[in-house]
Amino acid sequence: MLKIVKFGGTSLATAEQLQKVKNIVDADPARRVIVPSAPGKAHKEDTKVTDLLYLVHELAAMKQSIDQVWTKIMDRFNGIISELGLDMNLSKEFEEIRKKLIEGVDSQYMASRGEALNGRIVAAYLDAEYIDAADVIKIASNGRAHPSSYDLIRKLCPDDTRRYVIPGFYGSTTSGEVATFSRGGSDVTGAIVANALDADVYENWTDVSGFLMTDPRIVASAKHIENITYTELRELSYMGAGVLHEEAVFPIREKGIPINIRNTNNPEDKGTMIVADRDSSSQKIVGIAGQKGFSVFYIEKAMMNEEIGFGRRVLDVFEHLGISYEHMPSGIDTVSVVVKTTKINGKMDQIMEDLNRLKIDNLKVLENMSLIATVGKGMNHVIGLAAKLFMALAEADINIRMIDQGSSEQNIIVGVEEKDHEKAIKAIYTTFA
Ligand code: ASP
Repeated sequence: MLKIVKFGGTSLATAEQLQKVKNIVDADPARRVIVPSAPGKAHKEDTKVTDLLYLVHELAAMKQSIDQVWTKIMDRFNGIISELGLDMNLSKEFEEIRKKLIEGVDSQYMASRGEALNGRIVAAYLDAEYIDAADVIKIASNGRAHPSSYDLIRKLCPDDTRRYVIPGFYGSTTSGEVATFSRGGSDVTGAIVANALDADVYENWTDVSGFLMTDPRIVASAKHIENITYTELRELSYMGAGVLHEEAVFPIREKGIPINIRNTNNPEDKGTMIVADRDSSSQKIVGIAGQKGFSVFYIEKAMMNEEIGFGRRVLDVFEHLGISYEHMPSGIDTVSVVVKTTKINGKMDQIMEDLNRLKIDNLKVLENMSLIATVGKGMNHVIGLAAKLFMALAEADINIRMIDQGSSEQNIIVGVEEKDHEKAIKAIYTTFA
């Protein structure tokens, strides 16, 4: 049995948190490969070490004094080392990093040092072998893992009795430069390691006991999700319910390894299991997630269905202006293009002009729209579920401006006015929880 255990920043923010981590790792001999983040926020007003590292890099690039921030960074690590009573000293490492910083090293290298240094502390504290992520995680030019990483991980972690620590978030390019994934990328490292070593479970330890069925700021008593499939999670995280880095699901899904989201502060909670499949007979809908800030371009054109290439020409307008789209629900003579309003960025007049050039009959823009996704594999082949959803919204007196059922048939998205966002989520939740 092998479990890859990734600990996020809040789980490693202080010596006290690290003690909890040790208890968790010691409690199960299967927890043999540990992937730590950099120390995160110890309290609400605190700053993540990664943010301090980006800041110190910026200061150095602007030739401003780095001393105050640099000292703060060293103090974070030294404080943890001394409170844990570890017999180790990172001054050589600090010196080397500072030297590189002054010489003008890039920001990815700087940001990666949070995980690199913390990995050393975690390895010393857990009596584990430290593996430099630059030696095993290869990052391709698109910022994603390079396939050569898998063999390298297997080669450097051959022993199935020892503990290993592989810092999260960074690796190196195929030409050997240190590089990072996008923010929150330690989740991705854990997923790649789990895939490479054929782990039985990928445990992702954070500061919440998994996912809730909906945003607790809208429904205070939102139910906890016990099981969710990879596909359902994708549909939900896409709408902004992310606890886990979006890209972490892919390496895991390939091998069907379950991901268990756990709470370092409440290790007895079972958390949420993210799995390939789940029994949806008792819980058809797994979650409801919404996001505000969309604009919908509603386009009408008679005989659109007969016109070859019309859809492409519509999307061309957005592509040429560098705007990606979210959804494109269509009818026989209508099509809507849904985009995030922030992406329009002063290009509204140009979009309208270019769309009007397509000789359309009617063009309307609905702004300040909220999209709400109701997700669950149980909706597949269930009669009346959509009716229940629309009835819930009708009874709450909410006008539905757009409907889109994702092709996975596990997701119905409705567009409502932003002012109805909270009310709509509450109504849907009450119907399906
Ligand atoms: N420390 C990095 C960040 O703050 C990566 C991570 O925590 O996963 O984004």
